[in-house]
Amino acid sequence: MSLKIKKWISNLPDYTPGKSIEEIKNKYGLKNVYKLASNENLYGLPEGLTEKICEEIRNIYYYPDADCSQIREKLGKVYGIPVGKIIIGSGSDQVIEMICDSFIGSGDNVVIADPTFPIYEKAALKCGGSTIKVPLVDFRHDIKGLLAAVDKNTRIMFLTNPHNPAGTNITKEEFKYVLDKLPEDILLVMDEAYYEYAMPDERIDTTEYIAGRDNLMVLRTFSKIFCLAGLRIGYGIGSVEAIRALNKVRLPFNVSSIAQKAALYSLQYQDFAVKIRESIHKQKQIYYNVLEKNGIGFIRSYANFILIKVGIDSSQITEELLKEGFIIRPGENLGFPGYIRVTVSTDEVSAKFLEVFTRIYKDCNK
Ligand SMILES: *Cc1c(COP(=O)(O)O)cnc(C)c1O
Repeated sequence: MSLKIKKWISNLPDYTPGKSIEEIKNKYGLKNVYKLASNENLYGLPEGLTEKICEEIRNIYYYPDADCSQIREKLGKVYGIPVGKIIIGSGSDQVIEMICDSFIGSGDNVVIADPTFPIYEKAALKCGGSTIKVPLVDFRHDIKGLLAAVDKNTRIMFLTNPHNPAGTNITKEEFKYVLDKLPEDILLVMDEAYYEYAMPDERIDTTEYIAGRDNLMVLRTFSKIFCLAGLRIGYGIGSVEAIRALNKVRLPFNVSSIAQKAALYSLQYQDFAVKIRESIHKQKQIYYNVLEKNGIGFIRSYANFILIKVGIDSSQITEELLKEGFIIRPGENLGFPGYIRVTVSTDEVSAKFLEVFTRIYKDCNK
């Protein structure tokens, strides 16, 4: 007799984790393996932060602060926003999950782009909801299409800016248009995991709109430019009403004490973040130049990764790159067959990657 697992959970696909560095080292007998698959900040932690985090280990016999008060107060000051409008998650992934837990039930839907970050769909389906998917147009959100897709059962629209996996942006005009046209009882989630990677003149300060709009929620994370992916901490900023709902479903100790402290400290390293952003920006130009010179297509990116057109089946190129020690994401898995997504990291790794990639590209496209 089989167990009575919820029907919509049984229908979910099994989770398949990505390949680890160790796995690839062993499989191909490599000394150096570069993971350019999950858009982590490969520069590593800024000077001094590791020591500060290690200090916190002494206190782990206590449960963490259930309210995440220090980091919320700090973020409140940074953004000029009351702490009651801020929620901390074990990664912004968890905030997405809490949003769906609070807003989505059987029969409800979320409107999302196609392709997009897979967690929105997973979080919605897990609650018995469904998705309405609106294809990207020229690798960008189809703003009018997304709005037109909203129906009477829509509870949330998730937008990603910069978009993952395409790397494209949403303009301020587009954002204001959505905010203007979306019914006020539907939550607009702006997932801005790569916000800090966009140059200042390319960003929209969406947090400025929080005060005036109860149906806006902005998500940011410490995983990307702030280097804390392994600790799991991200946050949401929204209306008091929405945050209160999320807090009801949030588990009390959802964010570890180390993650809370590390995030707090990491905000002292704004210069580091600026340096990383500028370096990534420069390297993206190098990528574009090399790719253009070799007649290889790509999508200009506002984040720390680039979608590159490989023409042929991207799993073949992915396999060839693995043999040379580069783990990247084949577009087949991301909704972009014929493309690969590569994290832009340090100068040294970028140069190595571009050399190996252009060689393999030519061999595969002979
Ligand atoms: C990485 C990422 C996140 C969240 O990462 P967390 O580590 O859970 O904070 C959210 N959205 C997008 C689009 C991402 O790429």
